Amino acid sequence: MDHRKLEPGKIVVATYNAGKVREIKDLLAHLGMTPVSVAEFDLEEPEETEDTFVGNALIKARAAAEGTGMVSLADDSGLMVDALGGDPGVYTANWAELPDGTRDWDMAMQKVEDALAALGPDAPRGCQFVCTLALAWPDGHYEVFEGQVRGNLVWPPRGDKGFGYDPVFQPIGHAETFAEMDPAQKHAMSHRAEAFRRLVAASL
Ligand code: IMP
Repeated sequence: MDHRKLEPGKIVVATYNAGKVREIKDLLAHLGMTPVSVAEFDLEEPEETEDTFVGNALIKARAAAEGTGMVSLADDSGLMVDALGGDPGVYTANWAELPDGTRDWDMAMQKVEDALAALGPDAPRGCQFVCTLALAWPDGHYEVFEGQVRGNLVWPPRGDKGFGYDPVFQPIGHAETFAEMDPAQKHAMSHRAEAFRRLVAASL
């Protein structure tokens, strides 16, 4: 399949999640692209109404491309726990939501731990982070790239770097959680970095 190439220049990063914006800016910085956050435009955040990562990534990328007239990049990602049938999956951010609309990641990690504990002390702790990146152009063209990283859930949470569920995610073959790693170390192996490698291979 032919992929459309990205022209060097500005690209809108279509996420309101500060942790993701930071990581995506880091990952884009090497590529001759100038990332601009969608938060700098007066746009409404679209609702993520699909039940797949691809569907929701496209909603976000298309809304930003239409709203700004610029090429846009969105990330939809989440944690899938084997013993929970892939939950929280596309609803990963919702598990952190409080009634006032803010997010509490300590509570979200606790909910995952409680759901595992309810299965008994021997419940398998395997899981993966998945990331779907969607590029959308104002003329409607789009491209989608995916990445995964396997790991185990640890408890209690460890580390204060990263964001979201990083303190409970220990990638296979490593002694540290993502939240104990420096950003460069996480970028060398993360689901987001893998999706980026695929984007770079196809689009640059
Ligand atoms: P959404 O893609 O914005 O709907 O939400 C995905 C959620 O998955 C994020 O808010 C994070 O909590 C979680 N998540 C995605 N990627 C990572 C990561 O690299 N580390 C930790 N949590 C992540």
